[in-house]
Amino acid sequence: MSQAQIIDGKVYAERVRDEVAREVARLRADHDLQPGLAVILVGEDAASQVYVRSKGEQSLAAGMHSVTHRLPADASLDELLLLIAGLNEDPRIHGILLQLPLPGHLDQRAALAAISPEKDVDGLHVVNAGRLANGEPALIPCTPLGCMILLRETLGDLTGKTAVVVGRSVLVGRPVAQLLLQADCTVTIAHSRTRNLADVCRGADILVAAVGRPRMIKADWIKPGAVVIDVGVNRVPFDDPEKAAAGRTKLVGDVDYKAAREVAGWITPVPGGVGLMTVACLLQNTLTAAKRQNGLDRDLA
Ligand code: NDP
Repeated sequence: MSQAQIIDGKVYAERVRDEVAREVARLRADHDLQPGLAVILVGEDAASQVYVRSKGEQSLAAGMHSVTHRLPADASLDELLLLIAGLNEDPRIHGILLQLPLPGHLDQRAALAAISPEKDVDGLHVVNAGRLANGEPALIPCTPLGCMILLRETLGDLTGKTAVVVGRSVLVGRPVAQLLLQADCTVTIAHSRTRNLADVCRGADILVAAVGRPRMIKADWIKPGAVVIDVGVNRVPFDDPEKAAAGRTKLVGDVDYKAAREVAGWITPVPGGVGLMTVACLLQNTLTAAKRQNGLDRDLA
């Protein structure tokens, strides 16, 4: 059997970024409106610093107004809430992204709840989660939005497909499942208490893995020809014992990629798949938020 086709996140992320940049240019020219994104980073977490830098650079490259607010690791919840309240009122800012995780002493739920749902470009406010669950226009979490773009680009119409989502987090699993349901798939959500997970996965035309366990999904759990979307990002030692001994690590997904390629019809690589879509979709959400806040959502792409 031939190998699965690779779903190249780079190509699709670039396409989303280009479309956003074109639309930002049009909004600036026709409506004197420059979409604005504010990113908040609390503390010094190394990975978060990299993500925040990339979000700032990419929003600027798309022609957006972009600001990054950095608070010290020992900032109080009141300080954070005050900053969010100011950004909620700031007419130049249409999207607010609070980089997670927050330092342990800060109440993440309270901070997310303080962001205006209209500016919640990470789609994590309960109002947006509720709107999504009700099938109403919502700001949709970026990674699930990216998964759907990849699926539609690969399969076109998803109606009637059997979809299995492994993982039920608020950030990924649940919203992906809601979106698949909206796309008229028949959806199963699996999690750590699911029985016979391999059998459940074997029924999937579309298999989305959002678990956080390296290479957990085996090739023989995959229906031949299925589309496999691997959201997982796991850092593991190199297979090569010399490199591993030197402490070198690499990123792998939740799917046993090499073996899965022999069975699946299409598959996303890690890195180079879903991860690249996440920031592109953040830009798209900021654009959507800016249009909705200015009554321009009728011409939403
Ligand atoms: P969470 O830890 O919040 O959720 C993991 C989910 O997987 C839970 O629902 C859990 O079930 C389930 N799970 C854990 N172990 C098993 C198991 N053995 N069998 C079946 N289900 C299991 O993770 P996230 O959803 O935030 O992230 C998932 C992965 O996606 C991570 O690797 C993360 O790094 C990556 N990620 C990637 C992004 C990207 O841009 N590419 C963005 C966000 C996340 P239960 O609820 O029962 O505990």
